Amino acid sequence: MPLTYPNPSVLKEIADTCGTPVMIYDEDAVRNTMKEYVTNFKSDMFETNVLYASKAFLCKAIAKAAAEEGLHFDAVSGGEIFCLAKAGVPAEKIHFHGNNKTPREIEDFFRMGHGHIIVDNEDELNLIIATAERVKSQMDILIRVNPGVEAHTHEYIATATKDSKFGVSIDKEETIRNMINSVAESDYLNFGGFHSHIGSQILEVEAFAMEIRVMFDFLDKVANSWGVTVEELDLGGGFAIRYTEEDNPPSTEEVCSRIIALCEEEVVQRKLPIKRLMIEPGRSVVGDAGYTLYTAGCRKSTDSREYIFIDGGMADNIRPALYDAVYTCRNISRDEAEADRTYAIAGKCCESGDILIKEASLPETAPGDLILVHATGAYGYSMASNYNRLGRPAVVFTSGDTYRTVLRRETYEDMMALDVE
Ligand SMILES: *Cc1c(COP(=O)(O)O)cnc(C)c1O
Repeated sequence: MPLTYPNPSVLKEIADTCGTPVMIYDEDAVRNTMKEYVTNFKSDMFETNVLYASKAFLCKAIAKAAAEEGLHFDAVSGGEIFCLAKAGVPAEKIHFHGNNKTPREIEDFFRMGHGHIIVDNEDELNLIIATAERVKSQMDILIRVNPGVEAHTHEYIATATKDSKFGVSIDKEETIRNMINSVAESDYLNFGGFHSHIGSQILEVEAFAMEIRVMFDFLDKVANSWGVTVEELDLGGGFAIRYTEEDNPPSTEEVCSRIIALCEEEVVQRKLPIKRLMIEPGRSVVGDAGYTLYTAGCRKSTDSREYIFIDGGMADNIRPALYDAVYTCRNISRDEAEADRTYAIAGKCCESGDILIKEASLPETAPGDLILVHATGAYGYSMASNYNRLGRPAVVFTSGDTYRTVLRRETYEDMMALDVE
């Protein structure tokens, strides 16, 4: 099945009025996916929440859209929480994640209101307890455990060595019991349950089934051997999208209904009082509804490659350089022409590794043509840098054939504003 993309005449108009590189989100598609999550991740047995993992892409417009569609939020820093607050999201809809939350980030969040913190380790819990005493404010607590299930695209494994930097290994039972007891002793903290997250771009629903099995074995032990009431379980994110025509991830409906069915079965069989189940999709909410539009510049041929250089690159999309992420693109200026050439699409940054697409199928392409890269909506803008003093691109939301700018292009003056010499 071909990848979909916005109306080329709208794209040309956006390039004319906003310049390139520019990021474009199909807001209708984003909202549709949000609706699909909210409608399909539902149970008669427990409350369900879909938390949007803000780190995939965050600005006020996306936060408002997610809040309007009924999602809650996963945030990993004071900066993300600040942006959510500016968009009008209250603390009770925010789950604060991260493996090294600073004292200031923790205190600011307590002062914002009664929210949720996912505790990563014992040191952090001590910091949270001390802050709660000082600020005298309530907080719900989940403990992040590492279930030893690791999944990435097609591979998923149960590992014996649980040495990730995130969460407490599920084997460290004494540590986890101590943490639960410390939470219980605080007048301000309410222990809800546990969180786990097993990876990203997971194409096989079976990986989540394995996570659910391991987590419910653990919950069973905590409830029935340790005598601790566990009411909340957060299974994290990692749901896959289509980057290329070859990718074939399960639908949102399939993933959600499978997770719900497996969890309901576990709750019934083990007689656990689970009251709230959560998932945290990031990439799958915004990834394939987002595109980057570049202008082709100079070309160059070597003995083995034909290069087309674009007016952006690793500064606006680090993923190919960082972990060999694969993308597909099309020439919007010659949308009807047959893609009978192979080009390497390289950025303008001073790094040999700044190649966005190693082998792109395109029609013969000339300087000035508009190149649209698919599925750049997650971890593109949010990982963007000012390397080589390139300003971050503008971000535009389309709806039907209308569009609006939600983040303006970063100017030279914006970059110089930090320079206080
Ligand atoms: C990154 C992350 C997510 C979102 O992952 P996606 O692959 O974007 O769905 C959710 N939860 C946690 C804890 C994460 O670290």
